Formats: sequence, structure tokens, C-alpha cells
Amino acid sequence: MQNNHSEKNIYVTRPSMPSKEEYFEEVSSLWETGILTHGGAKHQLFENQLKEMMDAPHVSLFTNGHQGLEAVFSTLEPQGEVITTPFTFVSTTLAIARAGLIPVFCDVKADDYTLDPSKIEALVTDKTVAIVPVHVYGTVCDVEAIDAIAKKHGLKVIYDAAHAFGEKLNGSSIALYGDASMFSFHATKVLNTGEGGAVVCNDEEIKKKMDAWKYYGFESSGSDVELLGTNAKMTEFAAAMGLCNLRHFDEELSKRATVFNRYRERLENVEGVRLCDEQSGVFSNHAYLPVSIDSSACTRDEVVDRMNKDGIFPRKYFYPLTSEYSCFGYLGNSVQETPVSFKASRSIMTLPMYADLSTDDVDRVCTSLISAIS
Ligand SMILES: *Cc1c(COP(=O)(O)O)cnc(C)c1O
Repeated sequence: MQNNHSEKNIYVTRPSMPSKEEYFEEVSSLWETGILTHGGAKHQLFENQLKEMMDAPHVSLFTNGHQGLEAVFSTLEPQGEVITTPFTFVSTTLAIARAGLIPVFCDVKADDYTLDPSKIEALVTDKTVAIVPVHVYGTVCDVEAIDAIAKKHGLKVIYDAAHAFGEKLNGSSIALYGDASMFSFHATKVLNTGEGGAVVCNDEEIKKKMDAWKYYGFESSGSDVELLGTNAKMTEFAAAMGLCNLRHFDEELSKRATVFNRYRERLENVEGVRLCDEQSGVFSNHAYLPVSIDSSACTRDEVVDRMNKDGIFPRKYFYPLTSEYSCFGYLGNSVQETPVSFKASRSIMTLPMYADLSTDDVDRVCTSLISAIS
């Protein structure tokens, strides 16, 4: 077996950063103003640039995407059940539960792992208040079908769009679908502020409530605390990072597309490896490179172990399903209720994918994968 320790390890991701000079220049004014948080100049500018870029009616920034989800879920009235996917990062399900709502798990589609609209209606009850789909891996959900179901039953739709920043569907910003969408700017995401996130919404009242929520619940004059908020404001240092990275965002996406195309070339016809189809009408950000291992010779876990020995570290993402975590045991769910999600959690891994991944490194990953499954 090849086990060449002289080669460097290849991890699943690596954040893109501006040059030190560019970042230092961006933050230097903070030494003059002394304003480091609290919706300062960087925060305002970053929020406005995001609004413009995403054609978004309202944007609210947060310390991280998870807090953004909790903020937007806290605006749902009345509380009740939320139909969502278990094939996601634990944040989605935690945020629902922590906002006092009850997650109800709906299965995903076998071809692209997004929420299966044909299975939503059977889960709607008189307690259902919202649908929370995830644009998982940046794959755009069936937004039209989900919207139609939501309208029919009077439900809100809040997207976990943590993976989908910068994407477009038929030329329009992905942020325009549903009542709200959360984007994460965590270090591992396509646009990063170290830690950070934003919620886009189309209702000014929701924007106001979220802004109050992230500042302890103070109403705008600051004399009363009107809701049970928390502290989740983005700092000026994070916003400055966002401003710098946004300047290079087109280049970021084109480098990711180059990496993606090389993977496609090398893996398209490899038996036992299935890539997701490219979606028609979608301008993709190539946030992740999920592959499904469908081979009688070996399992996904064996493939990951073998690749690790070559110094390559794909990620079992998402494994297990969020419904399997013990903290959600009180819901009494069984993985048999979402068989497609269950199978996906046991067969999918994401391969290293980031803007600065060289063609040679992509080739090393592919060679390792091909030898691991054969
Ligand atoms: C990253 C992520 C989150 C949480 O975002 P943070 O900015 O890390 O808090 C939520 N949902 C999904 C699907 C994610 O991948």
C-alpha cells in the first residue's frame, strides 16, 4: 500500500484569507475610532455590501450562523412544529430546539440530498409553523415546490443556506427564496469572517426583532428590554475580514470551479463513486465536493480509512444524522423514518475542496480514492 509520509497531508478544507497588508489596512481605522463592535462602520458597510450583492431586502449580521438561525426561529409565532431534514449539521436541529420549537424530520431526495417535497405534506399537522430546508453542500432545494406547500398550509419557510452563499437560481439571488435564509461565514465556508453569519429576510419587523435579539433584546431607544434576547453581535474585526474576502469573492468562486472541474474529469466515470449532478439554472459556489460510495467491494468508512493512510482526510459529512444524537432522544425518532437520509449518512463523504487546492493535490486525492475503492 502506498503510504508516502514525505507528502503533506491534504485536509478537507482551508480558509481563504486576504493578504496581511490588506487586512491590516482594513482594520487600521479601528485604532483611531476605538469602536470595535456595536454596529460600527465596518459592520454597517459589510451589511450594506451583502444587501446589494444578494439583492436582499434586509440583512442582519451575527457572531456566527448558528446564532442567526436561533434569532430568526425566535421570531416565529406561535411556537410549534418545524419540518426539517436530519441530513445536516447539528446546528440546524439544535437551533430549532433551542428556540422552543419541535423538529419533525422529513426525508431527503436520493439524487441530491435536499428535503423531499413529496414527503412534506404527510408531516403537516395543526401544530406545524414552518419548514426549514437546507441547501446542503450548496445544492439548491426544490424551492418552488416547497414554496407551494408552505403557501397552501400557511407555513413560513426558513432556509439554512449556510452552504449557499453567492449562489443564484435562474439568475436571481438564492437569498430571495422563502421568508428568510441564514448564511454562515465560518472559517470553513465559501466566504469567511473567521466566525460569522447573516440572516436575510423580507420582513422589516423580523429584521428589527433579530437586531434586538442579538443585543440582549433592547428595543431601539435602548430604554426597555422587550424580548428574551442574547448577545450575538458581529465584531468590527470580523466585518473587516468579510469586507476583504468579499473583494476577492469572484476569484474565490472561479478557483473553486477549476478544482470542481478537475474532480469531475477524474471521477466522472469511476465505478462505485457517484458525484452529484450539476443543477440546471444554478450558479453554484462549489462549496463542497460530496461523493457517494456505492460499491460492493468496500464501504465509505473503509474508503475514508484507506485515504487517511495516504495522508488525505475527507470528511464523513453528515454522519450521523442529527436525529441520531442523544440530545434529541426525547423526540423518539427512529432512523427508519428517514431511510434515504440514513443511507446517505453511511455512504457520503466530502472530498478536500478549497480555492487554493492545486491540480496536483486534486489528482493525489483522486488517485487515492480510486485505489481505495478497487
Ligand atoms: C456551518 C453550518 C451552520 C452553522 O454556522 P456557524 O456559522 O458555524 O454557526 C449551520 N448549518 C449548516 C448546514 C452549516 O454547515
